[in-house]
Amino acid sequence: TCGICVEKCPFDAIEIINLPSELDEEPVHRYGDNAFSLYGLPTPEPGNVTGILGPNGIGKSTAVHALAGEMVPNLGDHESEGDWERVLDRFRGTGLQNYLGSLKEGDVTVARKPQYVDQIPNQFDGNTRELLERTDERGALDSLIDRLNIGPVMDQPIDSISGGELQRVAIAACLARDADFYFLDEITPYLDIGQRMVVARLIRELADDDAAERSMLVVEHDLAILDLLADTLHVAYGEPGAYGVITDPKSVRNGINEYLKGYLDNENMRIRPSAITFEEHAPRVSSRSETLIEYPDLSKSYGEGEFELHVEGGEINRSEVLGVVGPNGIGKSTLAKLFAGSLEPDEGALDFALDIAYKPQYIEIDQPMRVDAFLSSITDQFGSSYWNTEIAQPLQLDRVMEQNLSDLSGGERQRVAIAACLSEDADLYLLDEPSAHLDVEQRVRATTAIRRYAENHDATVMVIDHDIYMIDLLADRLMVFDGEPAERGHATPPQEMREGMNEFLADLDITFRRDERTGRPRINKPGSQLDSQQKRDGEYYYST
Ligand code: ADP
Ligand code: ADP
Ligand code: MG
Repeated sequence: TCGICVEKCPFDAIEIINLPSELDEEPVHRYGDNAFSLYGLPTPEPGNVTGILGPNGIGKSTAVHALAGEMVPNLGDHESEGDWERVLDRFRGTGLQNYLGSLKEGDVTVARKPQYVDQIPNQFDGNTRELLERTDERGALDSLIDRLNIGPVMDQPIDSISGGELQRVAIAACLARDADFYFLDEITPYLDIGQRMVVARLIRELADDDAAERSMLVVEHDLAILDLLADTLHVAYGEPGAYGVITDPKSVRNGINEYLKGYLDNENMRIRPSAITFEEHAPRVSSRSETLIEYPDLSKSYGEGEFELHVEGGEINRSEVLGVVGPNGIGKSTLAKLFAGSLEPDEGALDFALDIAYKPQYIEIDQPMRVDAFLSSITDQFGSSYWNTEIAQPLQLDRVMEQNLSDLSGGERQRVAIAACLSEDADLYLLDEPSAHLDVEQRVRATTAIRRYAENHDATVMVIDHDIYMIDLLADRLMVFDGEPAERGHATPPQEMREGMNEFLADLDITFRRDERTGRPRINKPGSQLDSQQKRDGEYYYST
C-alpha cells in the first residue's frame, strides 16, 4: 500500500511508493546529479546462464556496460570516475569479486546480442553471409546456421530480411564468437515457440561446455523461456528512468514466483500492488454456450503456388476468450484479416454483420496526431474514471498521452493500439500478437487489462500470441495452427484448452508442468523424467 489507502490498492498501475532500503546506500552508478541511478549488479558465473527479469529502463544495459568493461561504475561519485580499485573494494567478498578482478586485468572477452535487432540494417551493409562470416570464432557457425534455419536467407541483403530472421541472425552472430561473457538482451522477439526453444537450447549448450568456462547473461521477458533457460535469476525493479535495483541472485523458481506475487521475500519489497494468479481454467461464468459466430470451412491463398490457408469451420462463443497459437508464417494473421474483413476468402463466406475491433500484428498508426486526440476520437469514454482505471492505467498511457503517434517506441505503440482496440464498442475483439515489444511488466499489466475487460464487458476476444503465460492466463479455448510455414497452413476449430494445448505441444515435442505453489506453467527440461512420463501419457500440458 502507498500510505493513502490502507487496504489493497484499487489501482493496479500505481508505482512503487516505499523506497527500497538499497537507496540508503550509494548506487553502483549514477549518470549525473538527479540522473538515473543503478543499485546492484548481476553476477556472471562460468558455466551458468544468469537471467535478469524486470521492466525496461531499469538499468539492465547500464549494468552490462559495466560488466563488459565498457564503463567503470562511479559508485555515485563523479569525482572518482574510472577508478577500478574502488569498485573492487566495494564488491570484495561478493560473488562478483573474481569476475571484476579479471575484468580489470582485461582478461574478459565479451559477445553481445543487442536488444533492438531492427537497428542492425542501419549499422551493416551487406548480406547475411557477410555479416556472419566475421563472427565464426569457434568453428560453430555452420551448425548455428543449420539449427537456426538461417540457410534460406544467407545471400539476402540484411536490410531485406524479416524481424524473425534478423533475430536469429543476430543470435547466431553472438553465439558464434569465442568469448568469456555472452550477453543476450532479449532472445524471443519475433520468434515462435519452436524457435525460442531452439535458441534456449543453443545457449544452454554453450554454457554447459565446461572446459570453456563461459558465463551467459540473458535479459528476457518471456517467463516460460526464462524459466527453462536460466540457472539463477536477478529480479530488477525500481522506477524506469529514475532508479533501478538489481537484486542478489535467486533461484529461478523463487525469482519468478516472487516476481508474479509482486513481493520480493529477501528484500522485503513490494514491487506490484497485486499478485498475478494462474488458475486451471475454471471456465468463466457467462453466456458461454451461446454462439457468436458460426463459420464454414474457409480457404485463402495469396496466388498461384504461394501460401495457402485452410481453416476448418467452427464456432466462436459469445463472451469467450479464444487463444490462437501456431508457428510463424502459418496463416494466423491471414485468418485475423479474414475475420476483420480486410481480406476475402477464396472459398467459404463470412457473412456475419458484426462489429469487429482489430489490432493488427503490424501496427500502422503513424498520423501526426497526439495520443490523447487519437484515443478520444475512438471513444467518448476517454478520460472517464472508468476508462482511466480499466484501460489507461494498466496500459500505462499517462506518460505517452501528449506524444505524437509517430514518435512512439514499439512498446508504446503496442500499448496505444491495444487501448484503441479495447476502447471500441465491438462484438468481437481481435488482438494479433499483443505481447510483441512489451517488457515483462507491461505484458503482465496488458494481460490483466485484457482479461478484466473481457470479464467486465462479457466481451468476445480472440488473442493470437506466442507467450504461453499470456495465452494461459487469458484463453478459455484454443485454436491451433499447423502445416508448413510459408507454404500451407491449417487451422483447427476452437477446442478446449487441454485438448488444444496437447495438440500444439505434441507437435513441438515440448511438455509443461504446473508449479505446485502458484499453478504457473513451466516447461519441462527436455529428456527429464517428467518430460518422458508426460509424453508417454500424452499429457503435454496440464499435469502437475
Ligand atoms: P534497461 O537496459 O533496463 O532498459 P538502461 O540501462 O538502458 O535500462 O537505462 C536506464 C536509464 O538510464 C534510462 O532511463 C536511460 O535513459 C538512462 N541512461 C542510459 N544511458 C545513459 C547515459 N549515458 N547518460 C544518462 N542517462 C543514461
Ligand atoms: P502468421 O501470422 O502465422 O505468422 P501470416 O498469415 O502472416 O502468418 O502469413 C502466412 C504466409 O503468407 C507467410 O508465408 C507470409 O509470407 C505469406 N503472406 C502473408 N501476406 C501475404 C501477401 N499479402 N501476399 C503474399 N504472401 C503473403
Ligand atoms: Mg502473424
